[in-house]
Amino acid sequence: MLTDRFGRHHDSLRISVTDRCNLRCRYCMPEGKVDFLPRREVLSFEEIERIAALMMRLGVRKMRLTGGEPLLRRGLPVLVARLAALPGLADLGLTTNGLLLAQHAAALYDAGLRRLNVSLDSLDPETFNNLVRDSSGRGLRRVLDGIMEAKRIGFRPIKINAVAISGTTDRELAQLGRLAREWDVEVRFIELMPLDSEGRWMRHSVLSARQIVEALSREVGPLRRRAVSPGDPSPAQEYEFADGCGRIGIIASVTEPFCSRCNRLRIAANGRFRYCLFALEDLDVRALLRSGGTDEEIEHAVRTWVTRKWEGHQINADEFIRPPQPMHVLGG
Ligand code: SF4
Repeated sequence: MLTDRFGRHHDSLRISVTDRCNLRCRYCMPEGKVDFLPRREVLSFEEIERIAALMMRLGVRKMRLTGGEPLLRRGLPVLVARLAALPGLADLGLTTNGLLLAQHAAALYDAGLRRLNVSLDSLDPETFNNLVRDSSGRGLRRVLDGIMEAKRIGFRPIKINAVAISGTTDRELAQLGRLAREWDVEVRFIELMPLDSEGRWMRHSVLSARQIVEALSREVGPLRRRAVSPGDPSPAQEYEFADGCGRIGIIASVTEPFCSRCNRLRIAANGRFRYCLFALEDLDVRALLRSGGTDEEIEHAVRTWVTRKWEGHQINADEFIRPPQPMHVLGG
């Protein structure tokens, strides 16, 4: 029922549960003070659950919890348990920066979460600390401990999301490639997108999918492309090392966009409904909820909004206009 004018069916919803974060990644957050949303402007668990149930009636079957950093949201396992209990939900995942994962993994697993994406752009402490502006210097260790604890508890699959940045992490690709082989986690390299809050994105900082495959094949081992079923909406190009040990994904949003098969919708922490990460407009679902809107009225508004969805992002267009809010507000 959530079909846009290009015939794309949308069954995947990303839900941002907070705009707050305990890291300051350069490709997302500003250096200085960040004005986070006041508590009252953030969707409550009841509101998120109501939106989730409503979206499932419209055909959504997969959900991913994001942020900011979702593990900063107090009581998150309660929300996870509520969403995991929604009849017909086929898949529930979470994307985290991993800093708090070691201490929260067990409660999230008990609440019904099974799938994790952990953001980790570098295994070199200096590069890591510089990229995420981690003043403690212990961040990388905490993330790795979090991944190991999640593996020990039984989360599957665990995917590592690594933003590939030319001139910053290009020397790290091989190390992360080897992690995929040694830790049995899928490492997904993400092309750098123009979503930083200071507007500093430069096209020459993009490490393309082709460059990433070449570097991994040269430095780790030959890669072969894995077959995916036609129409598979997954954003990642799937690879495995030719000897069968280790899986690699590449999200080539800039150089090989996959908007034609997009099935994703988003709800930001402030209740803004977005049909695309780069959308220049959004629907204020929070206002509809808090002004006494009925489920039927909200469903109608959401369905109508999806029909407005554009063909795809305009990053490669001459006149590219950045989305009005930074990544940590939009939700990953
Ligand atoms: S850029 Fe927008 S339309 Fe393209 S895949 Fe991402 S969310 Fe979908």
